[in-house]
Amino acid sequence: MQYDVIVVGCSFAGLSAAMYAARGRRKVLVIDAGQPRNRFAERSHGFFGHDGRAPAEILGEAKAQLLAYPAVTVIEGRAERAAIAGAGFEVEIDNGEGFGATRLVLATGVRDILSDVPGLAAHWGKTVLHCPYCHGYEVAGGPLGVLATGPMSLHQAELNSDWGDVTLFADGLFEPDADQARILEKRNIRFELTKVSEVQDDRSGGLVVRLDGNRSASVRALFTAPRNVMASPLAEQLGCAFNEGPLGRAIVVNDKQQTSVPGIFAAGDAARLMHNIAFAVSGGAMAGVAAHQSLVFG
Ligand SMILES: Cc1cc2nc3c(=O)[nH]c(=O)nc-3n(C[C@H](O)[C@H](O)[C@H](O)COP(=O)(O)OP(=O)(O)OC[C@H]3O[C@@H](n4cnc5c(N)ncnc54)[C@H](O)[C@@H]3O)c2cc1C
Repeated sequence: MQYDVIVVGCSFAGLSAAMYAARGRRKVLVIDAGQPRNRFAERSHGFFGHDGRAPAEILGEAKAQLLAYPAVTVIEGRAERAAIAGAGFEVEIDNGEGFGATRLVLATGVRDILSDVPGLAAHWGKTVLHCPYCHGYEVAGGPLGVLATGPMSLHQAELNSDWGDVTLFADGLFEPDADQARILEKRNIRFELTKVSEVQDDRSGGLVVRLDGNRSASVRALFTAPRNVMASPLAEQLGCAFNEGPLGRAIVVNDKQQTSVPGIFAAGDAARLMHNIAFAVSGGAMAGVAAHQSLVFG
């Protein structure tokens, strides 16, 4: 089946891109594997008009609105392969079915790779968090932890100290030098070098951070900065260029969300080094508009 635009990913960026391409009266296919990055969180914050709502509720409503456009088809499935084919693109999904389009939007997001501290993954998105703007307000005012993934985590501790009394758990990874020690002192951050052995519920909604040597500390939440990897290999398969960031890579895009490969647009977490829903929706809108305009003027 041939489409004007195929959007891979039907979450915040993909829904937004598909909506704009559909409003340009184009035939749009959206392919989605159904694993939005924030599915581990009960509530989403900071996206105006939707503050405090469940992520699945926001996405469900947006998808229903998108499906009201008759030229839009949304299918469940994982796009396994994509290739340039003539003046357009071919995409094959996990059941072997293939689709063609003149333009492609990659809105496939990233995956979080957490440290392997026991208990960490089980609390991800609940009391183990990454972004103070997303979830800091709800846990503010008490003891907070930052679990280091490297010396850069000092900056996370420095920032998060605006939300509470921070202990930086260095997990044996680094000792502060003189400049770093000055920052810790200035921001009243406690420093704990010992390796973290486990994190557990503290039975009052927070966490107990257990350290080697049988010591522990209680925190309302533990922030950490997981490594980000592309949730899909499509951009690499298609030869898109990448930017390297401190936590992972992002597809290179220009101010129209155009990638380094003509005809391919990318938006959302996959195409940015700083991530949130509002940014993803904004990038998706631009990708949808730019994909449409490239069909008109291209
Ligand atoms: C725990 C947690 C909590 C968060 N809380 C907030 C918050 O409160 N507020 C906020 O603004 N931001 C929050 N974020 C950030 C937010 O989740 C992301 O910025 C946002 O989800 C990015 O949207 P996206 O559309 O780019 O990617 P995603 O939401 O990750 O969606 C990508 C979609 O593409 C699909 N996909 C990937 N590969 C393929 C493929 N090959 N074929 C088909 N489909 C594919 C995935 O299954 C998924 O449905 C949170 C993140 C995390 C990890």
